[in-house]
Amino acid sequence: MWPVVARKILLPLHECLMRRKTFRYYRDLQRSQWFPGEQLRKLQLAKLCDLVSAALNQTDAYADLAGVDRTWQPGALEDLQQLPLLDKATVSSHREKLVNRSVPGGPIRYNTGGSSGEPLIFYFDKRRQAYDKAARMRTHQWWGVRPGEKEAYIWGSPVELSKQDRIKNIRDWITNELLLSAFDLSEQSVGWFVERLRRFGPKCLFGYPSSISLMCQLARRVGLDLTDLPVQVVFSTAEVLYDHQKEIISEALGGVPVVNGYGSREGGFIAHECPEGRMHITSENVIVEFIKDGKPVGPGQDGEIVITHLDNYAMPFIRYRTGDIGQPSDETCPCGRGLEVMKVVKGRTTDFVVAPDGRWIHGLALIYVIRDIPGVRQYQIIQEDVDSIRVRVVLDDGFPADGLERIQGGITDRMGAEVRVDVEQVSEIAQDPSGKFRHVISQVARDRSMAMGLDDAR
Ligand SMILES: [Zn+2]
Repeated sequence: MWPVVARKILLPLHECLMRRKTFRYYRDLQRSQWFPGEQLRKLQLAKLCDLVSAALNQTDAYADLAGVDRTWQPGALEDLQQLPLLDKATVSSHREKLVNRSVPGGPIRYNTGGSSGEPLIFYFDKRRQAYDKAARMRTHQWWGVRPGEKEAYIWGSPVELSKQDRIKNIRDWITNELLLSAFDLSEQSVGWFVERLRRFGPKCLFGYPSSISLMCQLARRVGLDLTDLPVQVVFSTAEVLYDHQKEIISEALGGVPVVNGYGSREGGFIAHECPEGRMHITSENVIVEFIKDGKPVGPGQDGEIVITHLDNYAMPFIRYRTGDIGQPSDETCPCGRGLEVMKVVKGRTTDFVVAPDGRWIHGLALIYVIRDIPGVRQYQIIQEDVDSIRVRVVLDDGFPADGLERIQGGITDRMGAEVRVDVEQVSEIAQDPSGKFRHVISQVARDRSMAMGLDDAR
């Protein structure tokens, strides 16, 4: 599809049919990014008042959880600190009573693994979907990619792949998006993968840095040149982007910029790098706090990233703990945007596992199997040999009778029938020494990447 037709006609039509005001929000965000900080804070406060009022009055549980009167309103942004921090466990245990069922289009259910080891089901709405999409369009524009230009999503998970029905293919064609699942890359499959990219001719790649860098390295190993792809920029998302990944990807694609984005399923589109190299917060949609020992930290200091999503009315993500570590900054960016600046210090990373037939499988492919099963409070997937997987689980009463079979069957479906899957029930799963919870640990992937001379496939 011609980019101009996609941008001016098909994409707006698609969003309109989905009853999302994406393009209106996009125009608003284009303007407000240049607002001075003071004006953005005013906008945040006005939105916060509306959001808090809806949470207190249109959900059953938020007022009790917050411990304030239903008429409570913040007089300044700092008043947000009078409300309690919310964590995954609280949201999970009060979930149905935190849903606002009166949102336009109805609440939309979502299931996520998150980074703390406990699966989370939550709700969002059309407004939030539209804003997240608009915010992403805005940051792409910073790097010269306009809505409707060809974009390939390199995804690590097989879930999206199973949704690739005909309707989705048509939709991808009209919106100029190509979804490629990189969940089973190998030296054998990388040629097919690169060929799909070459035929599509994307202007940008968007996806997991671990998967994109693995693709680049496997391509190099089998002698495929990627520099003739028309890609002009790579957008990294969902995981921490390491410097060495940045170098690998940039070099493989002929020196293109590799740009960092920070967000999460629950938190939305939180921050994105601008051409001046600063991470700008999507201040119009998200208030970000950095908290240590219950108090905000100063610029340049480490704190837990706590978000308030100003446009998710379906469920209050107000002072929600992400578990990621970041630093606030009081610097103004030379690019001239008034959007606040932050640093992400520690976020999500996921290991790959290696199947007996040589495929590199992104850990998320296995995570999806387990997190969809009720009653699993925590889990960890460990690969010590190429033909076996050990799954450690912390269970509660909700675990179904066929739960073990579902774990075993789901993993062998993805890795091969010859893989032995042992499920071990434990009472607790510890964080690793760096304080981060790791869902997937593969010694095999580590050994294999060393032996193959891959710098990073873990
Ligand atoms: Zn900037």
